[in-house]
Amino acid sequence: MKLVVQVRLLPTPEQAAALEATLRAANDAATWVAALAHTQRVFRNYDLRRHVYGQVKDRYGLAAQAAQHVIKKVADAYATLHAHVRNGNLGRPGSARRERVLARPIVFRPGAAQPFDDRCLSWRMDARTVSIWTVGGRMKGVAFTASADQLTLLAAHRKGESDLVCRDGRWFLIATCDLPDVPVRAPDGFVGVDLGIANIATTATGTGDGVRHSGKTLNAVRHRHRELRRRLQAKQTKSARRLLKKRRRKEARFAADINHTIAKRIVTEAARTGRGIALEDLQGIRDRVRLRKPQRVTLHSWSFHQLGHFIAYKAARAGVALVWVDPAYTSQACSACGHVAKNNRPDQETFACTSCGFAEHADVNAARNIAARGETGWAVSHAA
Ligand SMILES: [Zn+2]
Repeated sequence: MKLVVQVRLLPTPEQAAALEATLRAANDAATWVAALAHTQRVFRNYDLRRHVYGQVKDRYGLAAQAAQHVIKKVADAYATLHAHVRNGNLGRPGSARRERVLARPIVFRPGAAQPFDDRCLSWRMDARTVSIWTVGGRMKGVAFTASADQLTLLAAHRKGESDLVCRDGRWFLIATCDLPDVPVRAPDGFVGVDLGIANIATTATGTGDGVRHSGKTLNAVRHRHRELRRRLQAKQTKSARRLLKKRRRKEARFAADINHTIAKRIVTEAARTGRGIALEDLQGIRDRVRLRKPQRVTLHSWSFHQLGHFIAYKAARAGVALVWVDPAYTSQACSACGHVAKNNRPDQETFACTSCGFAEHADVNAARNIAARGETGWAVSHAA
């Protein structure tokens, strides 16, 4: 399986200036190549290279490898765009949006990601530094930080290119690790994961007690950010817009940290107890959540997708079985007798079965249903 590891670079001011000049040159070059590709209708990497390789090197002071990466980046960006057009993601032929996008060449931001291969970038894991090609020459000893887990991954499994990227003045290398697949162990029961807002995730086995991972901190931060956003949006100035963008990214980082922590806890516990994990199908989560109007503002559906994604890849790494289940009626069905009714759920927190009298926290009841569906799903797919 492929895994992306993001490490933060800690360049000195001089090193940061060199990185900035390099990324700017690469992206200026990419924008120039993209404009040329657009007017000449040349989009394939090989054809573009024949047209522009020499000029990219000379005009922008790029080394051979960097120039090739720039051209490939442009070709890839157009390939993605054209795939979107083909799949109708930009609307029907002739639609305003589609015409607008197709009328203009692709433009690359000065800080957009630029790939570096092993010839342009080398890692010294013991010293925690990288040596990287810049427009000012090879630069050695650029420090980076990474967690112990990330360091182990990088040392053992890093492969191929890494992307250099600048966000809000912070520098990152995004490296790809290629890990051998871990065989999935046959699960001894399932733990169901119910995703929500008050509780980001609630886990329970078919009959056991539930564990709730509260969304209190996250919701408080989101609320604070929303207030600030409202004030900034009213201002409409350039600096307000910049600040807004920064806040959004900060909030996203915070949510990702929380999701990582929760995913890790869930997968570690499942691995320890030999259980599999049952997750609601993500499309379903989005549909279900859309119905809850008052909470819509609190919700970032991508955050659910992200948590599901984190759980899925951590489970794969740990050899924990994972089953996606149909989320229909998991919150209205009784996990004790199976009776489905809307008024089984008198309020957000309470589940009380109108048929058998079973009562439980609503999220725990839902998690139990999900666990049971996981069990069934596994049995069906492994019947042979
Ligand atoms: Zn019941």
